[in-house]
Amino acid sequence: MTDPLPPGSTVGILGGGQLGRMLALAAARLGLRAHVYEPGAGCPAAQVAARTTCAPWDDVQALRAFAQGVEVVTWEFENIPTAALDVIESLRPIRPSRRSLEVSQERLAEKTFLQGIGLAVAPFAPVEDRAGLDAALARIGAPAILKTRRLGYDGKGQARIMAPDDAGAALAAMGGRPAILEGFVAFEREVSVIAARGIDGSVAAFDPGENLHEDGILRRTTVPARLSAAQTSDAVLIAARILGALDHVGVLGVELFVTPGAPPGALPGALIVNEIAPRVHNSGHWTQNGCLIDQFEQHIRAVCGWPLGDGTRHSDVEMENLIGHDIDRLPALAASGAALHLYGKAEVRPGRKMGHVNRITGPAAR
Ligand code: AMP
Repeated sequence: MTDPLPPGSTVGILGGGQLGRMLALAAARLGLRAHVYEPGAGCPAAQVAARTTCAPWDDVQALRAFAQGVEVVTWEFENIPTAALDVIESLRPIRPSRRSLEVSQERLAEKTFLQGIGLAVAPFAPVEDRAGLDAALARIGAPAILKTRRLGYDGKGQARIMAPDDAGAALAAMGGRPAILEGFVAFEREVSVIAARGIDGSVAAFDPGENLHEDGILRRTTVPARLSAAQTSDAVLIAARILGALDHVGVLGVELFVTPGAPPGALPGALIVNEIAPRVHNSGHWTQNGCLIDQFEQHIRAVCGWPLGDGTRHSDVEMENLIGHDIDRLPALAASGAALHLYGKAEVRPGRKMGHVNRITGPAAR
């Protein structure tokens, strides 16, 4: 067992977006310092971190200096070039480890891993070219979704195939990148479970939240999700199984489709795993106002070798993302009694996450 890092230690955070910002704030609350590494200038996390290195991912000197100045390194997004991790890993522990990152960076590896540990996923097949797509469609059938294997987020890099005639256009939308075809899941709702695993292997899960997406972007998370008691415990067991199989240290988000019936051979129940995020997740932002210990503190605790905190939900919460010009509603939101979480982004762009609000909708039922 590694000794917990004492207050005053420095946590390195790869990536300086809003997740890095909220991780840095949580670290500060625990008396820790955050050193953010981010290629883009003026990032949201730099405004609150004790230190920021603004340098590209291939700047070996900057990466080395960054690693030498911190006790542990974590990340806020999964598309970090592995060469950057090679440099850091030789100097400092990276938590969660490379395996979590590699599995979730690439959709084919992710689906294969999830299926391999006995979890239900949509039928899938790798696609490299037109012949491969035709073969995959013949096996999986339409409707289906073609997705790029890497760098897909917020519904980007995806094309729906409603009928075989759509195949050509869908393939063109991949721009020549390796893809994966997924069978379309006729889900009733989308939920996610955010869970943490400590260095000692202990696991703590937050209550599942119900997610509503618009244009591929998360719009709202509502807790509690409309799930039966059995589905709720299945969701938590799924997250725990993934955490254990990856030997993950830190927070991980699991997005699940709730289907009307269990597919043959699926384990457990009627929940199908869509994807995993090996980090704090937008659908866990409600924990900031619905729990004593939120996902950001839980992550910092885990990667610093501290005991996990009590993430029991004390309130029902609705989290709403402020996307693009939603931020123009700020005067009304500020007066509405909702908890505001703004990311300090100067420029409003369509589809850009500018902040979120958490509304308490009642006490949690016991
Ligand atoms: P993803 O980037 O994979 O999370 O996909 C973004 C959104 O597209 C999901 O939240 C779903 O609403 C939808 N989606 C993705 N994959 C599937 C699927 N296999 N079947 C049905 N809907 C999907």
